[in-house]
Amino acid sequence: MPLNFAFDNSYARLPDRFFARQNAAKAPAPRLLAYNTALADELGLGSEASDVELAQIFSGTVTPDGAAPLAQAYAGHQFGGFSPQLGDGRALLVGEVLGKDGQRFDIQLKGSGRTPFSRRGDGKAWLGPVLREYVVSEAMHALGVPTTRALAAVATGDTVLRQTALPGAVLTRVAASHLRIGTFQYFAVRDDRDALQTLMDYAIARHDPQADGPAAFLQGCIDRQVKLIPQWMGLGFIHGVMNTDNCAISGQTIDYGPCAFMDDFHPNMTFSSIDHQGRYSYSNQMHVLVWNLAQLASALVPLNADEDAAVEDYTIRINKMPEALKAEWLRIFCAKIGISTPQRDDQRLIERLLALMAANHSDFTNTFRALVDGNARDQFSDRDAFDQWEKDWKARIVNEPDPQALMARSNPVYIPRNHWIEQMIDAALEGDLAPMQRLMTVLANPYTVQDGAEDLRRPPTPDEVVPQTFCG
Ligand code: AMP
Ligand code: MG
Ligand code: MG
Repeated sequence: MPLNFAFDNSYARLPDRFFARQNAAKAPAPRLLAYNTALADELGLGSEASDVELAQIFSGTVTPDGAAPLAQAYAGHQFGGFSPQLGDGRALLVGEVLGKDGQRFDIQLKGSGRTPFSRRGDGKAWLGPVLREYVVSEAMHALGVPTTRALAAVATGDTVLRQTALPGAVLTRVAASHLRIGTFQYFAVRDDRDALQTLMDYAIARHDPQADGPAAFLQGCIDRQVKLIPQWMGLGFIHGVMNTDNCAISGQTIDYGPCAFMDDFHPNMTFSSIDHQGRYSYSNQMHVLVWNLAQLASALVPLNADEDAAVEDYTIRINKMPEALKAEWLRIFCAKIGISTPQRDDQRLIERLLALMAANHSDFTNTFRALVDGNARDQFSDRDAFDQWEKDWKARIVNEPDPQALMARSNPVYIPRNHWIEQMIDAALEGDLAPMQRLMTVLANPYTVQDGAEDLRRPPTPDEVVPQTFCG
């Protein structure tokens, strides 16, 4: 056995109706594109495997001993409309491994072929979205945001039909779990109380061991998400598809489809080709989160003997979310401008800056970072307006212990900008993986200025702008 997976497949021991057992499609000519040795080490996989063996395993062509591949059942609200059955239509949970420190991780293949949940889809993925998720999820991790990780990317040698014929690929995703709000909705809509109870007990054991029932479990899920989404906001990240099936119980960012980091700041920015109404625009993300957690709350109600009392209690918990989100948002944006202890008036100060940035089409990442370097003025065409703001800001932080250090660790130098990702994908389609490797190297230390990486700080020129991102 070339890799040492310490499998312990707890999900596969749940009742049959939680999943469908399914093997991956065999790849005609698997070829390793990227492998995350640091993550492999955390998972205790060892380093004995050759690239050929890694490509076979992480394309799904060879199933490792002890794996129990399956497609998970789930439901979900997509753009507000409820689908009672979604499920892993292009993904397989290979198994769970206990990592070096005893922590449990899901190992999932994405793009490994059809499953009983595929409906009309082909169950495949093409190279572009696979490399995109690989780079963006690892960048998120390096930025300090809870997220699923990328262990491997493999080209299958298959051709996948999208608008044109494209090379197929498989991403190996590592997650604290793949339980979603939609997993709960799947059993709630079926009135399957037994399964709902089993699922909640399972989720509690995995993510909220101290929770003593559905209310405490709901609160745990709320608390994790309330920590997460403001972190996205602070980085100018737009998830793009905050459907309830893409909202993880673990509190990790999951499902990097038509996501993007903003260049020019605009609060209503969307990138997703399928988000016509702006439901998942940058500034709507905190509102949508509340809506999503309300769906989880609804799904948990049947687990209570006194449902009316539960509804009342859950409503209070959901209604407290906007305030908690706002406090977290304020903490994060205060840190970005060097304020360690937020005061009520600081919100005004931040909002004034953001309004100026929007009016001046300032680059989100570079403007905040320029506050560290003292040249933020260059990011504004209306410099007088910025000077006015800067005067007030300087007065506010005069008594801060070390605003420079706080800002330097709260404002990244490098983010995975869309145009660099597109260029990386174009190069990979030509067989050149060097741009991807370079992006990975630089994005591994996003808060540190690196020699020879000045170009990666540059926003797109008008003809480099990527106006839309796609699901894959
Ligand atoms: P997503 O947009 O990635 O969150 O996916 C939403 C649903 O569509 C999930 O049930 C996926 O498994 C399914 N899906 C997405 N792409 C495909 C595909 N190429 N083949 C089959 N199912 C898919
Ligand atoms: Mg999804
Ligand atoms: Mg998906």
